[in-house]
Amino acid sequence: MDTHDFRRLGHELIDWVADYRERIAEYPVMSRVRPGEVAAKLPAEPPRRAEGLATISADLERIVLPGITHWNHPGWFAYFPSNTDLSSVLADLVSSGLGVQGMSWQTSPAATEVEDVVMEWLRQMLGLSDAFTGVIHDTASTATLCALLCARERSSNFSQDRGGLQAEEAPLVVYASDQAHSSVPKAAHLAGFGADNLRLLETDDDHALRLDALETAVREDVAAGRRPCALVAAVGTTATTALDPLAGMAQLAARHGLWLHVDAALAGTAMICPEQRWMWEGVERADSVVLNPHKWMGTGFDLSAYYVRDPEHLVRVMSTDPSYLRTAQDGLVRNLRDWGIPLGRRFRALKLWFLIREHGVEGLQARVRRDLGNAAWLAEQVDAASGWQRLAPVPLQTVCLRHVPPALQDDEPALAVHNLAVADRVNRAGRSYVTPSLLKGRQMIRVSIGALATEREHVEALWRELRGAAVALPGARP
Ligand SMILES: *Cc1c(COP(=O)(O)O)cnc(C)c1O
Repeated sequence: MDTHDFRRLGHELIDWVADYRERIAEYPVMSRVRPGEVAAKLPAEPPRRAEGLATISADLERIVLPGITHWNHPGWFAYFPSNTDLSSVLADLVSSGLGVQGMSWQTSPAATEVEDVVMEWLRQMLGLSDAFTGVIHDTASTATLCALLCARERSSNFSQDRGGLQAEEAPLVVYASDQAHSSVPKAAHLAGFGADNLRLLETDDDHALRLDALETAVREDVAAGRRPCALVAAVGTTATTALDPLAGMAQLAARHGLWLHVDAALAGTAMICPEQRWMWEGVERADSVVLNPHKWMGTGFDLSAYYVRDPEHLVRVMSTDPSYLRTAQDGLVRNLRDWGIPLGRRFRALKLWFLIREHGVEGLQARVRRDLGNAAWLAEQVDAASGWQRLAPVPLQTVCLRHVPPALQDDEPALAVHNLAVADRVNRAGRSYVTPSLLKGRQMIRVSIGALATEREHVEALWRELRGAAVALPGARP
């Protein structure tokens, strides 16, 4: 493609994206295509001759859009917010346009230095002390894997330089709660700890890790000759945004020499508001912290922020330092290939740089407070409505609720069927999208608030829709 065509089509596609965002509320939030429907509209074989992009806009409209679930829709209450502020769309365009690899400082100094500075800005915004140094990863899953690899190497005094875990005498053990995100067991498996050495501990009535259960598990492992290695604390679990008792966990981690990793993938964004920071009291004692600006904050996917206390340890675990990549600048600058798993790195920092400059810290704080207020409002409605139940505290932006008609009160299977039907009815109507989900065997409807476009009126509309669906279903009334 030459620059002439790029300019013409580029302007057209910017308009297309802008039009899409302007009319996004008109689409059914959840895509209605059936499996195979999108693929069936595409030729099975690639074009043999150049066909050009003359019809691409029409094809995006006809083939792609029907197969899109609209995460930036104001009626988005499913999974978690995946906010993609338009400023970060432009940043991604610039990143692709520059087409650089930021694996080392020399391969594009600006890619490293803009990242250095915006991660420092973000650290200040979160109220983390300057004992932490940040690096951008693709996802929290990757960051958590890095954390467990670093924990493994610290506990084993660099077993990777010898026979690896395979040559260790005592098995190393990882602890988290049974509400930990699936990326935690996945990281423990991939880092070679083995399922037998992962403790997913029971949680309390608020779905937070129980310190007494943790203490007992650690003591039993020590008595059995195993070596406690890492502890993952969730600040905002995925199911309910439960807050693990971080301060107590930090004390215990210090006492037993455990690596403490804080998974604040979603909730970390709230910490830009000083009044929310009680939620992660104790974070200063963590070895590593991850949060995802690509969820609630507004940088488009993917941009995960990983902070560590001991960068030298991270680099020692991650660095391979082949001589062909060595540059004269080593020692003076960061070579970010040594701060994570992949060698090649996109220029992701632009997205955070654009976002923070576009909104300012105060603008971002105001939006977080809006969303927290909307969630508190919905929680109040649920608590005040007869026949409705809230299944978890609402410290953040997620409300876990269900409809409990008197006739079904003690019938868990019937309640499950009923609430699945309520969620299904709301989702099919297309104005809102919620996630039906199981919480310790109980069927709930999970309402995750915080899309950029979601105002109070959209939360009010959802609450009307939920109540309407609940009474419209057979068997809902006694
Ligand atoms: C979303 C989430 C993750 C996973 O995030 P990715 O960036 O998709 O890997 C991990 N932990 C928690 C608590 C989350 O909410």
